[in-house]
Amino acid sequence: MLAQRMTLVATSGTAGARAAAKAFATTGKEIVDLSAGEVASAPPHAVVAGALAALERGENRYTETVGIEPLRAVIARRLSGETGHAWIADEVAVTAGAKQALFNIALALLDPGDEVIIPAPYWATFPAQVRLVGARPVLVGTRASGYVPSIEKLAEAVTPATRAIVVNTPSNPVGAVFGEALLRDIAELAALHDLWVIFDECYGSFVHPPLEHHNFVRTAPQLRHRTLIVNSFSKSLALTGWRLGYVAGPKDVIAAVKAVQSHTTSNPNVIAQHAVLAHLLQDEPDAFAHDLRERLSGQRARGLAILSELVQVPVVAAQGGFYFYLDLSDLLAARPRDGGVADADDVARLLLAEAGVATVSGSAFGDAAGLRLTYGVLPDLLERGLTRLVTTLNALA
Ligand code: PLP
Repeated sequence: MLAQRMTLVATSGTAGARAAAKAFATTGKEIVDLSAGEVASAPPHAVVAGALAALERGENRYTETVGIEPLRAVIARRLSGETGHAWIADEVAVTAGAKQALFNIALALLDPGDEVIIPAPYWATFPAQVRLVGARPVLVGTRASGYVPSIEKLAEAVTPATRAIVVNTPSNPVGAVFGEALLRDIAELAALHDLWVIFDECYGSFVHPPLEHHNFVRTAPQLRHRTLIVNSFSKSLALTGWRLGYVAGPKDVIAAVKAVQSHTTSNPNVIAQHAVLAHLLQDEPDAFAHDLRERLSGQRARGLAILSELVQVPVVAAQGGFYFYLDLSDLLAARPRDGGVADADDVARLLLAEAGVATVSGSAFGDAAGLRLTYGVLPDLLERGLTRLVTTLNALA
């Protein structure tokens, strides 16, 4: 009944985890939901004021396909500062979240049979979108190299069909931050094989000191014309439901993105565009994300202290973003085979049923032995959730 391509994708595992948590909540038992890909925070005042003002002005019509010019211009100006190279509005397409930006890029750049290199564990949408357009994700494991890809493994994955490589730093689900040397090596590889670099910096505002976020184009300016910078206001401004993100890249690719978008969503939501524009035009638009990052750094430290009580379960990376990623390999390897808890899916189910803690199994990210939890929740929930999680996992060890 359905198209062939529907055999290639299923609803994202993170959405599945969210649904399981919601279903559990209806049982009336208390649940601590650490499954979400978002921070518990109100949006900035300027966004709310900007949205209200846009409503009052009667901003109710279609906008330019890839976003109103003043918004693209201010994004271009900010990118000029972030990358050290001048950008103009026509090199920016505003989209309904970074997710749409990435899908537009896939439609604009990939032909059936093309290959895209994706470091794993990966954010589930990267390979799913590649499959949806008939191309092939080539997954490169990163566990052995500290959850950032090794340049040797990336190089081995290149074939004549390779068209692009996904570079996501800080990464979801692991929160690994790519260093400058690695970015430079990736740039060299991409230049050698004429690859596109899809640079997703959605969590770039949340890198925990002393580490720093490195923009790919600033680090490897020679690759500017082969790079698509993807970013989102979802995480940095706590606006996940508003759906606003962007892609910046060469004008001809942005024109293709515009053509695609003109036949899908027509334009990103008009009120969200004006709201974020109002925020970005303030004197200190980065203060909100900066304060949020400080709050998250505090939560991360508190969370790591609780998780240090775990036996047999290391917390990996957690250098950026707002996720803890647990490596369950040793715990699972030590379990009896018939013990009923054989992989991360089983562990996630057990945590929900016994501890009332919702997490996301690593299987959503191509890793049957990982578990993702967000620490972007309210502090008392974090404390309760992690304490219960530690008790339950230690009882398995
Ligand atoms: N990229 C990464 C790595 C993400 O984790 C997410 C959301 O979880 C996105 C992109 C999409 O963000 P949005 O579509 O909300 O802008």
